[in-house]
Amino acid sequence: MLLDRLFSTTAGDIDQWLILPILYHFGWMEWEELSFDWALICVYGVFAVILTYAICWPLEAAFPVEHWPNKRAVAVDVLYTFVSRVGIIPIVSFLLFYQVQVAFTGAIVDAGFIPPDLETLIPALFGHPLITFLLYALILDFADYWRHRLSHSFRAWYALHALHHAQRQMSFWSDDRNHIFDDLISFLWFFTIGLAIGIPPLQFPLLILLLKFMESLSHANVKLSFGPIGERLLISPRFHRRHHAIAAAGRKSCNYGAVFPYWDMFFKTADFSPEYHPTGDIKAPESLATGTYLQQQLSGAKLFAKALMR
Ligand SMILES: [Zn+2]
Ligand SMILES: [Zn+2]
Repeated sequence: MLLDRLFSTTAGDIDQWLILPILYHFGWMEWEELSFDWALICVYGVFAVILTYAICWPLEAAFPVEHWPNKRAVAVDVLYTFVSRVGIIPIVSFLLFYQVQVAFTGAIVDAGFIPPDLETLIPALFGHPLITFLLYALILDFADYWRHRLSHSFRAWYALHALHHAQRQMSFWSDDRNHIFDDLISFLWFFTIGLAIGIPPLQFPLLILLLKFMESLSHANVKLSFGPIGERLLISPRFHRRHHAIAAAGRKSCNYGAVFPYWDMFFKTADFSPEYHPTGDIKAPESLATGTYLQQQLSGAKLFAKALMR
């Protein structure tokens, strides 16, 4: 495929001209074997952002829920997106996950056990990589439902998650708007699940990027619902906006799902009402809503510390 070749050559160039020289300079030769794949995941990350923009921007322009004369609060979300998808996600989900998985598998084999693996658990999945991939996506999404729901249940955890809810100008850039401690918890959470079900190292970042694409769309400032049946198959911008509604901010909320609404339906936290609510968290300090990246992070950390002391 043409696109495949474009990704590979770009990754090859980045590897040759940027990553390898850095590795050699610092004497980190043991990473040499992985550096191309790492560059490839970064290229995927950039492509994912471009693709998200190409799909979501026209939608937001054509059917906006809200019109903003001044979009300054959106700019910081753009920064969050690039830092997360091109920087943190490739590093954490690929380089770190790879290392941890090698060590984890080694330790389990040394102890005389077989490492956990979805295909060993469900032998019918052998030879059906696409179904296995979808199953991984469902399991990760289920885990994310509970991570998100719990983040609304504990005072200190919500103090971190409030940064995500503080945005009054919610757009497709808002998905990665999270406190760095909150991101850290998410990665530990996904790491554990990823190891427990044996997601192959290269599939893990791809899965995360794919799920993230749907999550970006669900944050878009667009009047878009998937209809009575579609809404129950895949999470739409209308469904997730309901979660971000001012009235839903805080410890009692609804629509916690990220990609699939099944968990919300099953655990009775779904709200399919057809309204488009204004978003934000009135209890959040202004610095959390309209501050710079650093102000938001600092303000979030202070709220977190305060909640822990209580
Ligand atoms: Zn939330
Ligand atoms: Zn959200």
